[in-house]
Amino acid sequence: MILVVNSGSSSIKFKLFAIKKNVPIAILDGLAERIGVDGFLKIEFNGEKHQFNQKMSNHNEAIQFILKQFEELKVIKDKKDIAAVGFRIVHGGKITEPVVIDKKVFKEIEACVKLAPLHNPGALVAIEAFKIEMPKVKLIASFDTSFHQTMDEETFLYSVPYEWYKKYQVRKFGFHGISYKYITEKYAKMIKKPVGKLNLIICHLGSGASVACVKNGKSIDTTMGFTPLAGLMMGTRSGDIDPSIIQYMVKALNKDVFEITSILNKESGLKGFSEISSDMREIIAEVEKGNKHAVLTLNKYSQNVADFIVKYANRLEGKIDALIFTAGIGENSDTVRKEIINRVNILGLKLNPKENIKRYDDFLKISNKDSKFDIYAIKTNEELMICQETMDLTS
Ligand code: AMP
Repeated sequence: MILVVNSGSSSIKFKLFAIKKNVPIAILDGLAERIGVDGFLKIEFNGEKHQFNQKMSNHNEAIQFILKQFEELKVIKDKKDIAAVGFRIVHGGKITEPVVIDKKVFKEIEACVKLAPLHNPGALVAIEAFKIEMPKVKLIASFDTSFHQTMDEETFLYSVPYEWYKKYQVRKFGFHGISYKYITEKYAKMIKKPVGKLNLIICHLGSGASVACVKNGKSIDTTMGFTPLAGLMMGTRSGDIDPSIIQYMVKALNKDVFEITSILNKESGLKGFSEISSDMREIIAEVEKGNKHAVLTLNKYSQNVADFIVKYANRLEGKIDALIFTAGIGENSDTVRKEIINRVNILGLKLNPKENIKRYDDFLKISNKDSKFDIYAIKTNEELMICQETMDLTS
């Protein structure tokens, strides 16, 4: 069995896969929350939901308790049934591939803490806890940044003093790479075309959101940047703004740069702009009631994504296999997909409105036959991608 772990500073999301004839099958998933506060664990197994109020003072205690529940639920006989653990790591700096976590890799992830202070520390404490709890088990790291390491210098460098890059690694990294890799490989399988021949524009629209431009199966550009704050308007993040707004608002609100950056991360985007919610479902509900500001929010969001689609179509010289929507909003909101496609005026896209509103399990083709290229909604599966990468490095 392989355990996939996505750890934050006070939470651990996990999914357990059984491997049957080299094929991973998800058998259990769960979430430990409020670690270090009080502690709450949810596990879903065999269609049943289990909940535990359990004090978890740190990640070690959380992992011990999670593994104990696996045994009590008889998912595993003992810890030895877990052959490897795969970790989702948001920032891997220049690491281009999934890797076995040894001392050197651990140090590299640690070095990236300053680049992703909200994300990498949670992963590091989980890795340390698993090292103590399961010292013989292979631990693998999959990185959200790896997929974008194929961007060229012209794309990943900012027009700031070049020394900022050389000395301080100021550059575009890009994120959501695990999802983009999954979608690219999934689409290749779906249409039976080699990954290396695929040109795709992929819109990962979840609470965090970005668009990636994939040429010959490789990322050549993406909307997120040095951090996941850049690019699109997101659930609570502003996306791209004029950087001078920061110093202006420091003065206007009498706050420091860190407080303003925190507002850009946590109080902006759909939440701050709409003054309704960070959840697109609630904004659409208001649109349906005729709320004009909700309409403005939805229009702004859609135009923002449409503009990047057109930009990336240009980068691909119009040779595009498909436009793909994924993640919470991209997978589920026919309204947002329609609004975005309605704003892509110069690419000859034709949405099939009847298909667009259909429910689906895995993927849905939503374009008409006369569309210049295909449009799909595809459900992403980052845990499965991490599991596969873990299998590749452990078998
Ligand atoms: P993710 O980060 O991929 O889990 O996406 C989470 C977000 O997806 C939520 O915050 C919602 O805004 C959005 N979402 C999920 N389902 C729908 C839906 N049916 N319509 C619009 N937005 C949705």
